[in-house]
Amino acid sequence: MQIRTASDYLTSLKQVKPTIFYKGKRITDVTRHPATAPHVRSAAMTYSLANMDQYRDLAAATSHLTGHTISRFTHVHQGVEDLIKKVKLLRVLGQKTGSCFQRCVGLDGINAVYTVAYEVDQKLGTNYLERFKKWLIRIQDENKMVVGAMTDPKGDRSKGPADQHDPDQYLRVVKRTDEGVFIRGAKLHMTGAVNSHEILVMPTTALDKRSTDYAIVCAIPIDAPGITMIFGRQANDDRRDRMEQIDTGKPRFGVVGGEAVIVFEDVFVPNKCIFLNGETEFTGSIVYRFASHHRANYGACKTGLMDVLTGAVSYLAQMQGTSTASHIKEKVTEMIHLSETLYCSSIATSAEGWQTPSGGYMVDTMLANVCKQNVTRFHFEVARLALDIAGGLIATLPSEQDLKSEDVGHLVRKYFSGVKGILVEDRIKIARLIEAMTGGTALVESMHGAGSPQAQRVMIFREGNLNQKIKLAKALAGIPLKEKRVSKQSN
Ligand code: SF4
Repeated sequence: MQIRTASDYLTSLKQVKPTIFYKGKRITDVTRHPATAPHVRSAAMTYSLANMDQYRDLAAATSHLTGHTISRFTHVHQGVEDLIKKVKLLRVLGQKTGSCFQRCVGLDGINAVYTVAYEVDQKLGTNYLERFKKWLIRIQDENKMVVGAMTDPKGDRSKGPADQHDPDQYLRVVKRTDEGVFIRGAKLHMTGAVNSHEILVMPTTALDKRSTDYAIVCAIPIDAPGITMIFGRQANDDRRDRMEQIDTGKPRFGVVGGEAVIVFEDVFVPNKCIFLNGETEFTGSIVYRFASHHRANYGACKTGLMDVLTGAVSYLAQMQGTSTASHIKEKVTEMIHLSETLYCSSIATSAEGWQTPSGGYMVDTMLANVCKQNVTRFHFEVARLALDIAGGLIATLPSEQDLKSEDVGHLVRKYFSGVKGILVEDRIKIARLIEAMTGGTALVESMHGAGSPQAQRVMIFREGNLNQKIKLAKALAGIPLKEKRVSKQSN
C-alpha cells in the first residue's frame, strides 16, 4: 500500500497487528485508543503537509535511487539544500503539532545506515548497501514510517555489553542460521514506535571486538513474532486518557512523541534485512552519525514548539491585561531571541553539511552538538519565562469538571474572567496548553532526547580542536609554536 495522505496512514496502521501494552492492557487499535491516538495524529501531520501546496517543496524530495517523488522522511540527503529544507520542515511541523511528530528518528537512522553501509562494503567487500537500498526503495515507495531503535537498557552502566551480568541488557544476536539471525534484547524510549510500520535496529554505542554479537543493524516489521511494546506514561496522561478536551491543553496532539519500550524475544531477521552483522569497528560511526543528525533536528522541531509557547503566553498576557507592561514585552522578546538563536544553530549545522563517500550528506557534527546543547538550555529558559509571564494559575487552575459544574462553574467563570469580553474557556485552554508544554515530560524530552547533555559536552570538547586554538593564541602573543622550555637545571 502506498501511503499518500493522513487518512491512508491511519488505514495502514489498522493493517498491522503489533503487540502493545499500556497500563497492563493490550492496545489493539492505536488510531483510536485515547493514549496513542494523539501521537498518531502528530505523525499523520507529516503526511498531511506533503499534500499542502505551500509545504510540498519542504515535505517532498526526489529519491536519488528511483527518481520518484518521496517523503523527505525517507530521503537520503543529497546536498546542503536537502539538509536545510529538512530543518525548515521540522520547524513548521513543530508549530502545527506543538509536539514531537516522531518520523525524524527513522529518517536519521536511514541516513546513518546508508552512509556507513557504503563504507563497510568498500573496506570489507560486503554487500550491505545493496540490501539496504532494496529495503529503502520499498520504504520510500510505500511511504512507510520507520522507528529508529538505538537506545539499549544498558544494565550496569559501569560495564560494557560483554561484561553485563545479564547479556540481554544490550540487544544482541543469540542464534545464527543460513537464512538469518535471531535477536534478543530491548530498546527504550522509542519515539513513535507503536505507530510505525518498521523498526530499524542499530547499536547503542561503539563496540569492541568482544561484542560482535551486539554489532547488529537490521530492519523488522513492527508486528514480527517475538516483538512486544510497552507504551510509556507521560505527565497528566490521565487527562489525555479520559479525553478531557480543555484540561489536556493540546487535545489533538500528544505532549511529546509517545514513547515505548520495544522488547525483542528471539526475533528472526532474514539476511536481506541485515545491514551490519558483527563488524564492530563501524558501530561508532553509525551511532555518531545518527546522533548528529538528530541533535541538529532538535534545534528545528523545538524552535517550532517554542514559537507556539511564545504565542500562547503572549495571548494569555493579552487576556490578563498584562501584555503592554514593559517587563512582559522584555520577557517575550527574550523568548523570541532564544528561539531564533536555536534555529540559527540548526540551520548552521545544515549549511556546513558535508558529503560522505557514499554521496549522502552529513550535518556538521560540532555544530549539531552545540545545537542540541542549546536545546537543553534555551527550551528550559523559554519555558521558565512563559511560566513567569503566565502566573500561578498554571499550577492552581480548577479542573474542567469544576468549570462545567452546576454547583461551582459560575464561580470559576467569575473569578477567572480576566479582561472584559474574553471567554473564560479560552483563557483556561491557553493556560492548559502552557502547562502541557512546560511540564515534566515535555522538558525531559528536550533534556535527554538525541542524547543527554553530557554526551554533547564530551563531543564538543573532543572536536573543539584545542591544539589549533592554542596555536592561534601563541601566534598572536608572539610565542614560537615550538617554544623553548625552561629546564629543571636552570631553575
Ligand atoms: Fe523529530 Fe524532534 Fe521528535 Fe526528534 S524530538 S523525532 S527531532 S520531532
